[in-house]
Order: sequence, then C-alpha cells, then structure tokens
Amino acid sequence: MSSDPFYSFLALVTQDLHAVATRKKIANLSQKQEALKAQSNKLQQELANAQAQAHTAKKNLDAQELEIKILKDRQRFLKTKLDAASSPKEYFSLETELKNITSDIDAQESKLFELFEDFEMLEKKRGEIDFQVVTAREQITQEIAAIDQQIRQHHELLQEYTQSYDDLLPLVNPDMLEKFITMKQSVENPVVSAENGACSACGNTINVQDLVSMRKHKLVSCQSCFRLLYSVTP
Ligand SMILES: [Zn+2]
Repeated sequence: MSSDPFYSFLALVTQDLHAVATRKKIANLSQKQEALKAQSNKLQQELANAQAQAHTAKKNLDAQELEIKILKDRQRFLKTKLDAASSPKEYFSLETELKNITSDIDAQESKLFELFEDFEMLEKKRGEIDFQVVTAREQITQEIAAIDQQIRQHHELLQEYTQSYDDLLPLVNPDMLEKFITMKQSVENPVVSAENGACSACGNTINVQDLVSMRKHKLVSCQSCFRLLYSVTP
C-alpha cells in the first residue's frame, strides 16, 4: 500500500468501486432469490387450489351417491308396499310414485356420472400439479441455497473492501476525500481517469490547463459530467 496521499486516494476509490459493484451483485442475487420464493409460493397456491377443487368435487360426488341411496331405499320400500297394497287406489298411487322415483333415479345417476367425471378430471389435475410442485420445490430449494452461498461470499468481499477503505482513510489527501464524498452523493463513480486527453466516463475533451494540473496529481472536474478526473501518467 502506497503512503502517497494521491495514490492512497486512488486506492480508496478503487475499494469503493468494488464495494459498489459488490452491493449491486448482492441486491441482484437477493432479487433472484425473492423471485424464486415467489415462484415457489405461486406453485404452492396452485396446488392448494387444485386440492380444494378436487375436494369439493369429491364432496359433491358423495352427496349425490347418498341422495341416490335414499331414493333407492324409498324405491325398495314402495315395492314392498305395492306387493301388499290393499286397494286398487292405493296400488295405483304407489305405482305412480314408484314410476316417478325410478325416473328420478335415472336422472340422478346420469348426474352422478357427470360428477364422477368432474372429480376424476380434477383429481388428475391435482396429481399433475402435485408432481410439478414436488419437482420444482427441490430445484428451487437448491437454487436458493446456492444463491445464499454466493450472497455470503459477496458479503465477505464487501467486508474486505470496506475494511481496506477504512484503512486507507487516514492516508488520503483530505481535500480529495471531501470532494469525492460530496460527488458520490450524485454519482456512483465520481472519480474517473483521463484517457487520451478526455474524460473516460463521458468522453469530454480536457483542456490543456487541466491536463497540466493532472500531471501534478491534482484532481480536476470534468467540464461536462463534473466527475473528478485524474491521471497517473507523468
Ligand atoms: Zn466527464
């Protein structure tokens, strides 16, 4: 590490740039993780919906079966009564009711068939989504764990950059530091190098007087983007 205040300043700027880039990476990784969690929740929700639909279909099916059972019980009862009818009038009345019940059972049985098909379709869908969720959950869990690992590594790097920055603070030119901190409120990279007589951030040409100042390791402001320019060429 150089003890020259100018080079220490440049080293500090570099550490700061690394820190900025690392924070961005951490933010991106966290965002990716959030997206994966949202995807997992969405799948979980889809499964819950499919389960609820299949459950309702099963309940409807059971209710329909029960209704048919009640009708058939009544049908049996009427048949017994019909055999023991004591008058033609009673016989006729029982026979009419029996006819009605029989046709009712037919209608209810075709409804039962439809409900059964509904249930089977929804149950199949539930099974498919269940499979998808199990497969995806495993993959998503692995991806989230891998990202966790990357985030931890970046946090460690960030700590190193921040530490280096803090270590450099007492060594840098205080005026440069103050300008840097002020400019940093406006831009992420307030200090950039001059390349071939121009600002490396915006390309603006640097005037001769400023080029001379830079040779003496002074910072000059870019006339266009106002970043602080430096040069290390003698
Ligand atoms: Zn510029």
